[in-house]
Amino acid sequence: MKISELVDLLDGIAPWRLADEWDNVGLQVGSPDRPTGKLLLALEVSPAVLTEAKALGARTLITHHPLIFDPLENLRETTPIAALVAQMIREGMNLIVMHTNFDYIAEGPNGEIAGRLEIVPRGFLAEKEKDAKGKGLYGLGLVGDLAFDTPLGQLAESVGRALGSARASFVGPAGQRVKRVAICSGAGGEALRRWEPGVAQALITGELTHHQCVMARDRGIPVVLAGHFESEVVAMSRLATLLRKTLREKSTDRIEIHVSKDEAPPVTRVAAGREAAS
Ligand SMILES: [Zn+2]
Repeated sequence: MKISELVDLLDGIAPWRLADEWDNVGLQVGSPDRPTGKLLLALEVSPAVLTEAKALGARTLITHHPLIFDPLENLRETTPIAALVAQMIREGMNLIVMHTNFDYIAEGPNGEIAGRLEIVPRGFLAEKEKDAKGKGLYGLGLVGDLAFDTPLGQLAESVGRALGSARASFVGPAGQRVKRVAICSGAGGEALRRWEPGVAQALITGELTHHQCVMARDRGIPVVLAGHFESEVVAMSRLATLLRKTLREKSTDRIEIHVSKDEAPPVTRVAAGREAAS
């Protein structure tokens, strides 16, 4: 299969048109005419992921975070991004980025978190596109119900366990009971800005800045913070599953798909002076 055909198949999973204007998605490195070879899915390109791709013999990476985001003025290998791009070109690799277009589908990162917490999705925090009957098809933040009213502190523990994040934290009273939650993986600032009273009883997200946490507290919006990396890295195995299903249905080509096992968060969290198991 050619890269261009893979890009078309990915459009069927998470349409490219959904991506935010400020975002940079699609084929970032490589050629549309080249065969895909084996695929490696990862949250982002890093030296560890490129080493892993080489060991697996994977020629094409699909990542959530864009490698090229701010315009590159040169490919001088004195900055990490230019060095990674140059290495990929030298090794004949391709990079496809599925970022905000993947965030806006119900089966994307938010759907993965909902599934792990047994949350039944009901709609979106802010709809982006509706179907012919006016029902939200794509949108920011997935809203759904927990099986039981759960104290906020306990919900944060459940989120930590479900995402393998040892240090999930929360904003708000520990004992406040919540059932309807909005899930917004990664950075939750936009979800907070678009929050309408009554839409949900708590926000589950990856991260907020300190000032956004203060704003959430003062507006009475309980928030669970799972960690940006932890809230999104789990979605890459979901993308692998969605892609395998699409390939079975729409193509006779069989592509080997791997999900990165070697990428690690840039942040190491500590507890009482010790490294926390994450
Ligand atoms: Zn992210």
